[in-house]
Amino acid sequence: MKTDTGNAIQNKPAPANGDDGEMIALYQAHKKIYPRSVTGVFANWRWGLVFLTQIIFYGLPWLEWGQRQMVLFDLAARRFYIFGLVQYPQDFIYLTGMLVVSALSLFLFTAVAGRLWCGYACPQTVYTEIFLWIERKFEGDRSAQMRRDAQPMSLDKFWRKGGKQLAWVAVALWTGFTFVGYFTPIRSLGLDFAQGNVGPWGIFWTGFYAFATYGNAGFMREQVCKYMCPYARFQSAMFDKDTLIVTYDAERGEPRGARSRKADPAALNLGSCTDCSLCIQVCPTGIDIRKGLQYECIGCGACADVCDTVMDKMGYARGLVRYTTQNAMANHWTRAQTWRHVLRPRVLLYSSILLSIVIAMVVSMSLRTPFKVNVVRDRGVMARIVSGGKIENVYQLQVMNATESTQRYRITAQGLPGLAVASEDVVTVDSTQATRLAVRVQAPYDAAEPGTHPIKFEIQSLDTPGHLSEKSMFMVPR
Ligand code: SF4
Ligand code: SF4
Repeated sequence: MKTDTGNAIQNKPAPANGDDGEMIALYQAHKKIYPRSVTGVFANWRWGLVFLTQIIFYGLPWLEWGQRQMVLFDLAARRFYIFGLVQYPQDFIYLTGMLVVSALSLFLFTAVAGRLWCGYACPQTVYTEIFLWIERKFEGDRSAQMRRDAQPMSLDKFWRKGGKQLAWVAVALWTGFTFVGYFTPIRSLGLDFAQGNVGPWGIFWTGFYAFATYGNAGFMREQVCKYMCPYARFQSAMFDKDTLIVTYDAERGEPRGARSRKADPAALNLGSCTDCSLCIQVCPTGIDIRKGLQYECIGCGACADVCDTVMDKMGYARGLVRYTTQNAMANHWTRAQTWRHVLRPRVLLYSSILLSIVIAMVVSMSLRTPFKVNVVRDRGVMARIVSGGKIENVYQLQVMNATESTQRYRITAQGLPGLAVASEDVVTVDSTQATRLAVRVQAPYDAAEPGTHPIKFEIQSLDTPGHLSEKSMFMVPR
């Protein structure tokens, strides 16, 4: 991949005498980028995803499922509530599955169309878009902002900058509050904030997330994508010559140059690029797509949108800057040919693995037993001989009810002749709660030789279908 960072680390040796050597800068000074607003197909897609993701993010914690919050990651109680599912730490496999699905989706999208995630759905892009929108409401578009920033402070500049900062802080705080609302019930959290009763951790995490949102979307912006995001570092490994990327059609665009709308570019020996620089002005990372594929490009399509408006004004065909592949560009493929090559074996392999994992997860979740049991031999109580000449072992059973109604479970033991539960064999567990109980298991004196013997606990749900077996050991003393 060609890179054009414009801020390469200079690595020249220092002069021996050290007097007349030039200063060596390790990092380029940050220059503020003023992205120009843009409209078009890809901008609409981005705004569509901004609305979709933010309606879900801000709205979900306020929705209820029965008597509880619809989505709540209750870390203190070690339960995750996701719609109708109650997940315990033992369900970690599903969380792992979701992470694998997310990672594979990212690989798939990247193989198909490069940094789709970056350009349209990444929180950094989404919040930067929102913060830019607020900035433009207060300070106007690119040229007005640049002009005002070059002027000394005035009342007009002060209220615009101040208003923008207040609006940013408000959005950031609401975002931090919403984030915390996924881990603690949001309605009571809101009440606690209103009454000034929020605990230190609530304040810390709300402030931390708000600060991260404010800093990343308000100030860091493209620097997060360029220098901080690890995904930007390895994404090129997932590109190949059939990956759709935003590309400048140099063959058609060059030689670039300004001309009047009525002029015939062929007569002037010019290509379609009018060298208007609008594609640079709209770029959120401030690069020139005409220099080729660069690692800073987040694939947002803003340059394609703006270039299409220029082409429309000039009366030229759209698509001087467009999503296409390197192979399509080199071979002059049609759109249909390009798509046929995009759906290549790698993409089909990622898709089938992804689909298999999703199906396996859905099937496994729908078939899972809605309760869990942990069995531990009670080491505080040794095997003993009790009245009637029986041998007794005591176990600690933890029964976790993962349904939203009270459930009863019958506990039996098997594995040795005459083995039976001697304590209460039916346990009642409230909805989404866990109960720990001591279970006494007895066997006739002559049921087995001295030593340890494998046995099984059978736990049968009496109210909803469900059955579990848990292994343990039964000790027969000498
Ligand atoms: S927006 Fe299009 S026409 Fe204008 S400089 Fe960029 S590539 Fe050339
Ligand atoms: S070069 Fe074009 S697609 Fe890439 S980040 Fe800039 S505007 Fe977005």
